[in-house]
Amino acid sequence: MSLPTTHTPTDAAKPSNFLRQIIEHDLDKGTYASRRWAGSPGDAAHHAQGEPDPAKIRTRFPPEPNGYLHIGHAKSICINFGLARDYGGICHLRFDDTNPEKEDTEYVNSIIDAVKWLGFDWNGSAGAAPYQASDYFDFMYRAAEYLIEAGHAYVDEQSAEDMRANRGDFGKPGIDSPYRSRPPAENLMRFREMRDGQHADGAMVLRAKIDMASPNINLRDPAIYRIRRATHHHTGDQWCIYPMYTFAHPIEDALEQITHSICTLEFEDQRPFYDWLLQRLIEGGLLASPPPHQYEFARLNLTYVVTSKRKLAQLVNEHKVSGWDDPRMPTIVGLRRRGYTPQALQLFAERIGVTKSDSWIDYSTLEGCLRETLELTAHRGMAVLNPVKLVLTNWDEVFAAGYLEPCQLPALPHPPEGVESPTRHFTIGKEVWIEREDFEEVPPKGYKRLFPGNKVRLKGGYVIECTGCTKDANGQITEVLATVVGDTKSGTPGADSVKVKAAITWVGVADGVSAEVRMYDRLFLDAQPDAGGKDFLQCLNPNSLKVVTAIVEPSLANAQPDDKFQFERHGYFVADRIDHQAGKPVFNLAVGLKDSWGK
Ligand code: ATP
Ligand code: MG
Repeated sequence: MSLPTTHTPTDAAKPSNFLRQIIEHDLDKGTYASRRWAGSPGDAAHHAQGEPDPAKIRTRFPPEPNGYLHIGHAKSICINFGLARDYGGICHLRFDDTNPEKEDTEYVNSIIDAVKWLGFDWNGSAGAAPYQASDYFDFMYRAAEYLIEAGHAYVDEQSAEDMRANRGDFGKPGIDSPYRSRPPAENLMRFREMRDGQHADGAMVLRAKIDMASPNINLRDPAIYRIRRATHHHTGDQWCIYPMYTFAHPIEDALEQITHSICTLEFEDQRPFYDWLLQRLIEGGLLASPPPHQYEFARLNLTYVVTSKRKLAQLVNEHKVSGWDDPRMPTIVGLRRRGYTPQALQLFAERIGVTKSDSWIDYSTLEGCLRETLELTAHRGMAVLNPVKLVLTNWDEVFAAGYLEPCQLPALPHPPEGVESPTRHFTIGKEVWIEREDFEEVPPKGYKRLFPGNKVRLKGGYVIECTGCTKDANGQITEVLATVVGDTKSGTPGADSVKVKAAITWVGVADGVSAEVRMYDRLFLDAQPDAGGKDFLQCLNPNSLKVVTAIVEPSLANAQPDDKFQFERHGYFVADRIDHQAGKPVFNLAVGLKDSWGK
């Protein structure tokens, strides 16, 4: 990432928000101007050898690699990377992998892919390795020993139940542990025994020594290290003690010289401990000053989806969806497979903004952003989703038996400035496919499409006049019959010689290609499937996927995986990234043409 020399936001149209105001204030005051950066994360001594930090601010996106990222993470990514970009800063990608139990390299790779796909690079250069919190275990251990020696931490051997009971609650101050006043030397010895594997899991913990009567329960001597024999995906069996998240996270930020540590509101009560810990470690000369500061924003709540990784995992594990990348999933891989673009997700993040109070965003806002970004760029094409054959009974007389007339239409009816629309080529012959709903034997009032005696245009082809239909023994319509009106082809001087009220979409029988089309709908019927203790699995939409065999025009059949199209009149579709193949097209419905859900 190149570093602009001023902190003027690059896009003046971006609405301000409280985070932008804080950053602009800090830049004006030079709050972080004295920081140094030694080229990599490290302690006070390390950074003291460095240059003045070329990054005006440092933010970070710190996922736990315990699942696939979802739309809420996309918001956080766009905020953190977007602020760094706009203010001449650098955003770090850091795996918060201090919890050994749940982490996996599969998730690590998927997170790297998701951030890249969203259009961001990290840690100061394209291709830099992400940071890993587990690389800081040595420092964290050293910080813990320092706190012990300075009288700020002690090893507590109370049982978990006693510890919980003695913490008190909102109305009741806590009770000091009998181990609270042990001398530092004894605490240090015990802590080293913990590290050396001399005690069982859960036998004791290291606690910060702050204030058992604090009105903020998080300051009542929080646990900072625990014993846990687990193989870590990165450090293996090197450690049998692991830092608690609340201890690890501020240290990670400080070692990385983060300036603005942006997290969701549920961490607000942790901020006093965040500040307490960093102050103690700065006093001890372990960490550089000024320390990072934590700011909280409202997490994204989106209707008709769940965004907890645990619940998403349940959908996958119980086979309610085909996988993490099922196009109905609100995961970044799912949205991508559904046809979402990075531009659509960035637009969404910008549009919903950053606030300090929780609210719900309607799913249609997300869909609107996709529509807006595809409108000008997605090539048009015709696809018949529920086909019935139309026979032009006079074709052989007007033209010749077996004759196919070449037709063409622009792929982009409104190309952006300076872009020339590509042309789609297809043919019309005696037989074409049309939508079943485009023929009525007895037309309802106001119906303008095919019924006996009515004329319509086959879009990009000829005007035709309906003459009737044929049926099978069950009364089911097998063919619609019409005659072609010669010399009315679109784009020729005769095109306007016959006036019609409707143009219908169609695909030639001769060059149409059959395609699997997956018609997706919302995964849940309830707008807030997991609110108020509801069982979200009971709210699943049984009709969230219908697979149809459609006929598509040749330009669509030649799509590459991930290509997006507007199927005229039907909506936006994407060639499936996984299953679409030359000769065996598979498309997913990304979003309809207009917001019709629930209407
Ligand atoms: P989940 O609850 O789904 O497991 P998490 O918060 O545990 O999510 P992390 O991997 O710890 O997931 O999150 C990485 C970052 O993404 C954090 O900074 C977190 O605040 C942010 N984040 C997670 N969910 C949301 C959300 N719904 N809206 C905004 N930001 C989010
Ligand atoms: Mg988490």
